[in-house]
Amino acid sequence: MHNHDYDANCLFCRIAKGEIPSRKVYEDEEVFAFHDINPAAPVHFLMVPKKHIASMAQVQAEDAPLLGRMMALAPRLALEQGCNPYPDGGFRIVVNTGAEGGQEVHHLHLHVMGGPRPWLKG
Ligand code: AMP
Ligand code: ZN
Repeated sequence: MHNHDYDANCLFCRIAKGEIPSRKVYEDEEVFAFHDINPAAPVHFLMVPKKHIASMAQVQAEDAPLLGRMMALAPRLALEQGCNPYPDGGFRIVVNTGAEGGQEVHHLHLHVMGGPRPWLKG
């Protein structure tokens, strides 16, 4: 990862670097996952690229393998974190994008939510 991939003013860059504490779910060279501080479901964690990408709106073709790996990793982490197996269990993956998309933290993140209903939202 290059230095310009890190934004010192970005909350999730700092969490992914370990500068701000979080409840870590998973980490590799390119991806960091941690529990959402305000969970909307029994299982609710966030997956972020370590590289700073502001949102889905900034994603480039070169990011496709990274996003593909994150999507492919999500089902395994969901089960590890307590989501029940498909089809009676399952999970929801949400990527809020921009103000009208409900995005509050401007570092691309996948919400992975699951567990028995009812949930707080949705
Ligand atoms: P979004 O609205 O999609 O940008 O979602 C941002 C999410 O980040 C929300 O669900 C927050 O609860 C979560 N969040 C904000 N600060 C933290 C933090 N320090 N640690 C973990 N999750 C956080
Ligand atoms: Zn960032």
